Amino acid sequence: MAYIPLRIDFVEPDTYCTRIGDNGKNHGFPTGTAYILRDDTNGKEYPFGRTCASYVVNDISLLKGLPDFTIRDYSQEEQDAQGNGTGDSKGNTYATVINSEREQAFAKRYLLLRMEKVANIPGIQTGIRYERLASIYANFQQTGQLSDDEVRQIINIEKSEKTPAIYKSNHLLDVYTAYIQLSRRIKRTKPGNYKDMLINILNVHLLQRLTLYPKQISAAKLKLHPQAFKS
Ligand SMILES: [Zn+2]
Repeated sequence: MAYIPLRIDFVEPDTYCTRIGDNGKNHGFPTGTAYILRDDTNGKEYPFGRTCASYVVNDISLLKGLPDFTIRDYSQEEQDAQGNGTGDSKGNTYATVINSEREQAFAKRYLLLRMEKVANIPGIQTGIRYERLASIYANFQQTGQLSDDEVRQIINIEKSEKTPAIYKSNHLLDVYTAYIQLSRRIKRTKPGNYKDMLINILNVHLLQRLTLYPKQISAAKLKLHPQAFKS
């Protein structure tokens, strides 16, 4: 059985690691983030901690240069202050990532943000899905790989002056991060004025205008990057 590492992503709060530890127990994800790996035998995706992921892949170098969708999430800061840190730290800490791997990861992430991650959020505005990325995305779905030429094309699109600020990589990551946090808060909130306000912030501002005011971010208690939505 081989697991293929796909990305670093958010997981629901009650998610457990797929691998049973050597002590017979399995652990959760205090950081709310995990390595997402695909089981080649059934095509399904499973969450792992960083250490556990390294046990189940055939080649540990596959864990380098993964697209990380969690870097603009700042809820971690709070948890660190409370001393909740565990061995399963967030982020791509395989530090010896070389430039070409970093570019691969950036390009994969941007492709997925525009064609899948943000584009597939229910009620999101339609401008995110980008026709010029469609054939690259179709190939990527088949192979899981990007050629050097495709990586260059994707990065050029992201850097292009013609690409509006709201469709840049960090901005879409902020939309994705805010969406995860806001929809969870809505789920946990009892019906009433506050919940209605949160739903309005989500539907009207985040999903249609792709932006939030600082006031809305603090009212919804979102923990976002300090520069989020300031572009
Ligand atoms: Zn684990």
